[in-house]
Amino acid sequence: MAEVLVLVERSDGVVRKATLELLTLARRLGDPAALVCGPADDAVMKALGEYGAGKVYVVDDPAIHEFLVAPKAEALVDVVRRTSPATVLVTAGREGTEVAARTAVRLDSGIITNAVEVAPGDGGPLVTQSVLSGGWITQSQVVRGTPIVTVLPNAVVPEALPVEPVVEHIEVQISDAARKSRIVQRTPKTGTGRPDLADASVVVSGGRGMGSAEAFGLLEQLADAMGGAVAASRAATDLGWYAHDFQIGQTGKTVAPQLYLASGISGAIQHRAGMQGSRTIVAINKDPKAPIFGITDFGVVGDAHAVLPALIDEVRRRKG
Ligand code: FAD
Repeated sequence: MAEVLVLVERSDGVVRKATLELLTLARRLGDPAALVCGPADDAVMKALGEYGAGKVYVVDDPAIHEFLVAPKAEALVDVVRRTSPATVLVTAGREGTEVAARTAVRLDSGIITNAVEVAPGDGGPLVTQSVLSGGWITQSQVVRGTPIVTVLPNAVVPEALPVEPVVEHIEVQISDAARKSRIVQRTPKTGTGRPDLADASVVVSGGRGMGSAEAFGLLEQLADAMGGAVAASRAATDLGWYAHDFQIGQTGKTVAPQLYLASGISGAIQHRAGMQGSRTIVAINKDPKAPIFGITDFGVVGDAHAVLPALIDEVRRRKG
């Protein structure tokens, strides 16, 4: 079988869960291989091997660390030209999407973004997208060049399948054109102790219906009980109840967790644009006619201030 190349992403040096998901997906399409841009320590190799990467390509050029994404895209282009993978899988997100798009242009290949599923198909992978605020599901295939697909985090559950990876270090000539935007400073953000929104398999989100910033404490308690992340609608972030970093929607972040719980959120189209791909959607809203109920798997008509404490108690009780 041909290789399916996964671009590895790391957070604080640790391989992201989204990359392990791509390796799991790659196994369904061919032989999983991984590309590490930058230094690859033992922990990185161990994680990639544990999730089935039979081959690991390493491009450790200082330009990758020094400049914005262009050198990474050049590294990916180079490795694709050398190894001719059947498909390239990249995590959908700001960096991944830019790297994938640059790579597709350089290779003159087709690209499909924000996939929620990728399955083997005749003549290339069959890619499923959730589009138009979740109102439609489309299936598409790349018909030119090497299929490049960006996949939303949480599209699959990562499954370990340990192998001993064969490592190949590759020297890539990074062009001057790729060295035009230098990173001058990196400042780590203060963590919340909760999973990153993009990686979280549970997202508990609040809107204007929460009524106050303090009420977001209930959402934090529920998220902590479920090992999830907290998010908000734009109305709530505009009111200063939660930081803009956590806004979901057209002008915020896109998430596709296994479970998205929307509390006091009406379900405006701009909000839905950021969470429509979630596997299971639950809403708590006191208005039975709220549009959010049009896309929920489970809905609770009720006051969030009454429903959430009961839910938190029940989750804690069941978790022992
Ligand atoms: P509301 O629409 O006010 O809804 C509050 C809901 O809470 C209501 O359904 C109400 O019934 C319910 N409620 C009230 N009290 C309670 C209670 N005690 N218990 C339970 N339920 C209760 N929005 C985003 O979210 N993300 C975006 O990225 C985004 N981008 C936008 C871009 C543009 C260009 C524009 C024009 C708008 C954008 N918006 C975005 C705004 C969007 O149109 C909505 O205004 C916003 O999503 C509404 O937020 P909300 O659902 O929290 O508030």
